[in-house]
Amino acid sequence: MAKRKRRKIRWDRVLIVFGPLFLLILIIHVSCRNRTGESVSESSILVESMNIPESTAETTLSGEDVPAAQTQKKFVIVIDPGHGGGDGGAVNQSNTRFEKDDNLRLGMAVKEAFAKYPDIEIIMTRETDEFIGLQDRCDIANEANADFFISLHRNSAEEGNGVEIWIESDTGSDNAWDKLMAEYILDWLTEVGVSKRRGIQNGFRNTASKDSNYYVNQYTNMPSCLVEMGFMTAEIDNQNFDQHLNEYADAIAGAMVELLTDKGLYNSAAPQ
Ligand SMILES: [Zn+2]
Repeated sequence: MAKRKRRKIRWDRVLIVFGPLFLLILIIHVSCRNRTGESVSESSILVESMNIPESTAETTLSGEDVPAAQTQKKFVIVIDPGHGGGDGGAVNQSNTRFEKDDNLRLGMAVKEAFAKYPDIEIIMTRETDEFIGLQDRCDIANEANADFFISLHRNSAEEGNGVEIWIESDTGSDNAWDKLMAEYILDWLTEVGVSKRRGIQNGFRNTASKDSNYYVNQYTNMPSCLVEMGFMTAEIDNQNFDQHLNEYADAIAGAMVELLTDKGLYNSAAPQ
C-alpha cells in the first residue's frame, strides 16, 4: 500500500501566486461598493422625481380653435365697452342718454360679475369715459393674448328693438368659437328677459357683403363677439337695460363660464 506523499506547502509560492489575485479582488470589491453607493443614491432621486405630481398636465381637446389658455387653467377675457369720450355712440329719442355711458355701466357690472370666478381674469379696454380707438382696443386684447373678447354696445334705429349679437362672417378662422360664445350669451340674456331675441348676426350691419365685419371682431386674434344690448331708440329696451343691468351682467359671465365648463376647460365648482 503506497503511502501518499505529504506535500509541503510552500507559503512563499502561495503568496507570489495568490497575493496579486487577492489584491485584485480587494480593489474590485472596493470599486463595486463605491459604484453601488452611487447607484443607490441615483435611484432614490429617480423615485422622488417620479412622485412629483404632474401639475402641468395638458387638457387634451380636439379642434384647432381651442383657446390658448387651456394649459394654464387661467382665462383672460377682454370686456370692451364701446365708444367713450368724444364718441358718444347712439342716443335715445330725446338726446339725453348716450350709448357710451350704458356700455360702460354694463361693462363694469360684467367685470364685477366675473370677479367671483378666480380663474378668469378680466381686462377692460376702458373703465372711464374716454375715447379709445378701435385698433387700440384690439391691441389691448392681442397684446394680453386674451382668450375671448366681448364688445358691449347698444343699437339705434328708427324702428326696432331687442338684443342681437354680431360675430365675424363665416370666413373668420375662429368662427366656431365666436358662434358658440354668442349663442351661450344670447341664451342667457334671453333667460333674463329681452324685448326681442334678434339672433346671431354675421358680418357687419347695413352691408350685404359677408366679408365685412365689425372692426373689433375682425382685428382681434381671439374668439370675439359684439353684443348689441337693445336699442337706445326703443324705450322698452332702455327700461329693460336699467331694470336688469346686473342680471344681464351676471348672464354674460354665467354664459362664458358655462361654455368653458361644457367644453371641459373650466371647473364650475371652483367659483367661491
Ligand atoms: Zn355702438
